[in-house]
Amino acid sequence: MPNMLADGVRWFDDWFALREVARGIHAIGEPRFHQINWNYLVLGNERALLFDTGPGVRDILQVVKALTPLPLTAMPSHMHFDHTGNITRFFDVAVADLPLLRAFEQDGMLQEPGNLFLGHYEGMKWTPFRVSQWLPPGHVIDLGGRRLEVIHTPGHSPDHVALWDKEADVLLAADFLYLGALYAQVPGSNLADYERVCESLLTRLGPKSRIFGAHGMPDAKGQHTAPELAKADAEALLSTLKILKKSGETPSRVEVNERMYLLIGPHAYEAWQAAK
Ligand SMILES: [Zn+2]
Repeated sequence: MPNMLADGVRWFDDWFALREVARGIHAIGEPRFHQINWNYLVLGNERALLFDTGPGVRDILQVVKALTPLPLTAMPSHMHFDHTGNITRFFDVAVADLPLLRAFEQDGMLQEPGNLFLGHYEGMKWTPFRVSQWLPPGHVIDLGGRRLEVIHTPGHSPDHVALWDKEADVLLAADFLYLGALYAQVPGSNLADYERVCESLLTRLGPKSRIFGAHGMPDAKGQHTAPELAKADAEALLSTLKILKKSGETPSRVEVNERMYLLIGPHAYEAWQAAK
């Protein structure tokens, strides 16, 4: 059987793949899942944070436990089913403190957040879970010797956040930016948000910044690694959006560069059209 993993990536078992992408940042991939999810475990000196728990086909908690004995917080980038799998297995769960998520809180439990979950796409059911920390945009998570800023990054989904490790110059962009098809065709996708957030992220990113996304693609040899992008990719996305806006056209697919393209639903154009 050909090796599914690129150099520097190793199997944890027959499902999860591991790569330490930067000191103390472990990418945990699920290359056999059709969405090819990559989740990120960030280690500080005192605590660890798992950014996205994957689709929950297998138990990611045992992978995390094998990588660190530190007290753990799980935080989904957004509530889509492939980022919140098995989240009820985590004792400490942090969620972005956004009014559109707070609206689904009942007695400390997060109920199914309307069409922000989309589990019905793949027959997955929401299980309400306890939110132990509501973290507002701009909040800085301190893991001890490592700080992660919560940045609200709507565009793909209105509840989406990214994590910015300024010191390591690493952006965990989850579903805002990754390789392959960027989904702006799902409920809540909004190109005006995508454009505005891109612009704002570019003010933080430098020429050496590394961006890691939540979905990967096999390379030409069919091998997988954590999807890594750079400032140039965010710039390409922004210029693509600006050209598209100016054109007034509303295609359902637009090429960004050789690494990414956008799939766009009609609703994602509405904010632009309303602004005219
Ligand atoms: Zn998503």
